Amino acid sequence: MTRSKDSSTSLRIAIQKSGRLTDKTVNLLHGIGIDFDNYKRNLMVKARDFDVELLLLRDDDIPEYVQDGICDLGFVGANERAEKDADVTVLRGLNYGKCRLSIAVPKDGNLNEAKDFDGKTIATSYPFLTQKYFKEQGVDVKVVEISGAVEITPQLGVADAISDLVSTGGTLKANGLKELFTILESETELVQTNMELSEGKKELIEKFLMRIDGYQQAGKSRYIMMNAPESAIETVKAIIPSMKSPTIVPLAETGMVAIHTVIPITKFWNVMEELKEAGASDIVMLPIESMIL
Ligand code: ATP
Ligand code: ZN
Repeated sequence: MTRSKDSSTSLRIAIQKSGRLTDKTVNLLHGIGIDFDNYKRNLMVKARDFDVELLLLRDDDIPEYVQDGICDLGFVGANERAEKDADVTVLRGLNYGKCRLSIAVPKDGNLNEAKDFDGKTIATSYPFLTQKYFKEQGVDVKVVEISGAVEITPQLGVADAISDLVSTGGTLKANGLKELFTILESETELVQTNMELSEGKKELIEKFLMRIDGYQQAGKSRYIMMNAPESAIETVKAIIPSMKSPTIVPLAETGMVAIHTVIPITKFWNVMEELKEAGASDIVMLPIESMIL
């Protein structure tokens, strides 16, 4: 599957065609100015304003496509990347598609710790990671690979336990199972091929990453504006955990100023209360689309 010589400059990016990661990945791409139509109907689509083509694949296939250099970049869960043991570089963790690969057992059974699993059968769609986990524990298990509905296999008598992706745990509960231990914590990652890339592509990837970082930073920040008496400026400055010195503009009303700045979203409510006490009023918070520091 390897592409021999990398002469094209268009970046080829793999994303999941249809599934849990699709909307969030497409939104992220839109958020960084990469637009395309008809991604639901085609396997390959070209972006409008950026030299990118998207390849729409099953998530299981993405690690290999990127490893082999068919695609330069891919958006895929750490779970799939680790299961396929793909030789790729993880560029960014993207903070969505979060889940964990866990071992779960029937609620009222007698499997409680790793050593209880000796000789037991475990059903999973993640045979590599599951086998590796028990090997590291020095426990011999039989791993049965199943592609879907893994959680009903204990009831069917096909397996003693399962190893499956969990996010809320609701599906496990509904099937009379409880989570025992976690093999892997996962989120969506942006991965890059380790195949040699042209200079043009390397430059495009730099740009792409800068946009992603700006977008992610923006998601964690808010633009705030407030009015305050001039006399309160120093107190207000001390309260704001700003990245830079705030913008201060005089208002028509004498002795009053408008103060604008960017703050981390996590600080907003604390800061807002302190600002009010310091004499600020008309405090407005706005989302930011993107920012480049
Ligand atoms: P495909 O047809 O592309 O193979 P799929 O059915 O294997 O799709 P999805 O169920 O869409 O995959 O899940 C895609 C990814 O979403 C998973 O590989 C994982 O990274 C992530 N994910 C997040 N939460 C969960 C969850 N609770 N269960 C399964 N996957 C989850
Ligand atoms: Zn899949």
